This record gives sequence, structure tokens and C-alpha cells, in this order.
Amino acid sequence: MKKEKAVVVFSGGQDSTTCLFWAMERFSEVEAVTFNYGQRHKLELDCAAEIAKELNIKHHILDMSLLNQLAPNALTRDDIAIEQKEGELPTTFVDGRNMLFLTFAAVLAKQLGAKHIVTGVCETDFSGYPDCRDIFVKSLNVTLNLSMDYPFVIDTPLMWLNKAQTWELSDTLGAFEFVRTRTLTCYNGIIADGCGACPACELRKKGLDDYLSMRLQGAKR
Ligand code: ZN
Repeated sequence: MKKEKAVVVFSGGQDSTTCLFWAMERFSEVEAVTFNYGQRHKLELDCAAEIAKELNIKHHILDMSLLNQLAPNALTRDDIAIEQKEGELPTTFVDGRNMLFLTFAAVLAKQLGAKHIVTGVCETDFSGYPDCRDIFVKSLNVTLNLSMDYPFVIDTPLMWLNKAQTWELSDTLGAFEFVRTRTLTCYNGIIADGCGACPACELRKKGLDDYLSMRLQGAKR
């Protein structure tokens, strides 16, 4: 374990909770930061807070309501449907969201004396979010280091994993059941297996089914 401190960008969902366990195994000190940007479900914030408390992780919730004021979107507004038209970004995309989150996380991390910023962004199940791409994260990493004259390292443990492999990682970390039963991914605000019908639930379920059948095949060998 590195004697270093990390800040995890944490939403209480499957990906960022897996990242939290990943960071806890790797770094001697871990804190989590969650952004309140007027999510449809306040439950998302409660879920994140509860997980952090249970894992004994210091949790910071930062107000980012400005984001919704600038760019109303399907994650914050009930009157905008979650959909993706051919050749367009999905309505869940918010211009600048990930860039701003990582930037604010970096300001906080420097205050806390942490060099590592851990984020669950991923290019594999890529819905087309430009600021979740590896090339963007690397570019921002350089910019942040220059802007604050500080040697940040942005860690992206899920960048090249598909959803099944993310479940596998949680299992390797001994967190499979925890992630499966305690995290909130569903756009309709239902913890664990969710509503089963929204795009986030579909993606989560497909990954879980794929991983469980992989695991079963592994056990048979
Ligand atoms: Zn759902």
C-alpha cells in the first residue's frame, strides 16, 4: 500500500464505489467527494453519504448547482426525457460536467494534501461523453498540474474495463456483494438492482449477467 492520500470522485454508483474500494486497497488515506448538482434524486446523495459512513471514509459534498443553471439536462430535470438520438450525445450528457468535477476535486485534493484523484470514468461502454475519454483525462491532468503547480495523478482504474470486468474488479476487491446491494445506478433512484427498465439499469444488468456467467464458467473448469 502506498503511503499516499487519494480523493475519490464518488457518486454512490457501481463504478465510483468500485473505485473507492480500489483506492482503499492502494492508498493509506482515502477521502471521497460528491457533487450536488441538483440530481433528480436527492437519494443519490444520501446513498453516497451512507456508503462513505459505513466504510469510514471522510466524505465531502460540494454544491455544484451552478452546473444545472448553466446546462439544464435529463439528470436534473424531470421534464427532459433520457434518450439518445442516432449520431447525437445522450440527453444525460452535461457540457463540462466531468471536467468541472475533476477540476473541483483537484482543488480540494490539494487542500487536503492528496496527490491522487480517482475517477470511475470509462471509455469502453462509451456513450460518447467527450470529457470521459482517456485522452481528455490525460490532457486535463497536465493542465491541472500546470494550473496549481502540483503533481496530481488522475487514476482511472475502470477506463478500459467493460461492465462485466468492473463487476469482476469489485469481486477481486472483496466488494462484489457490497457493490451489488448498496449502490445506486438507476436513473429512477432505486438502489441495488434498480427499476430494471432505464438505460443505466440495462447496462448494469447486462454487465452483471455477463460477469456471473463468466464466473460460473470459471468455476466449472
Ligand atoms: Zn433504472
